[in-house]
Amino acid sequence: MTNENEAPDLKPCPFCEGGETRIEPFGQTWMGQKYSEPQFYRLTHHGKLPEGDGFETCHIQFRAKTPHDLVYMWNDTRADLPDDHIAELEAQNRELRMQVIASDSQAQMAYEEQGQLEAKLARVTGIANLIAGRMMK
Ligand SMILES: [Zn+2]
Repeated sequence: MTNENEAPDLKPCPFCEGGETRIEPFGQTWMGQKYSEPQFYRLTHHGKLPEGDGFETCHIQFRAKTPHDLVYMWNDTRADLPDDHIAELEAQNRELRMQVIASDSQAQMAYEEQGQLEAKLARVTGIANLIAGRMMK
């Protein structure tokens, strides 16, 4: 088994050529005296893609049974891909990111709406308590 602290032999990210990539075990359970073997390993990559005047997040995450599989899959992503296929994948990636951003802003709107409703509810509850308090006197 690969030591998690040891940097595995990972090639640079095919999209941003940099960033940070790490591999972590998941799904370990405490067996009383030691942890069980992990159920899977997850590769997480964070980087930055130049976009317009600023940067876009380059985020990739996937899982596999062993760290070796992760390294193999990661290193293989760029091996057999012709350039036009990479461009196609990048376009798909961009589209997916736009969808994520869109759903994020919807969630943000719902969250703000909820905040306003909660504030309203608090005011109404406050008034109700005030009235109830007066009626008690
Ligand atoms: Zn990247």
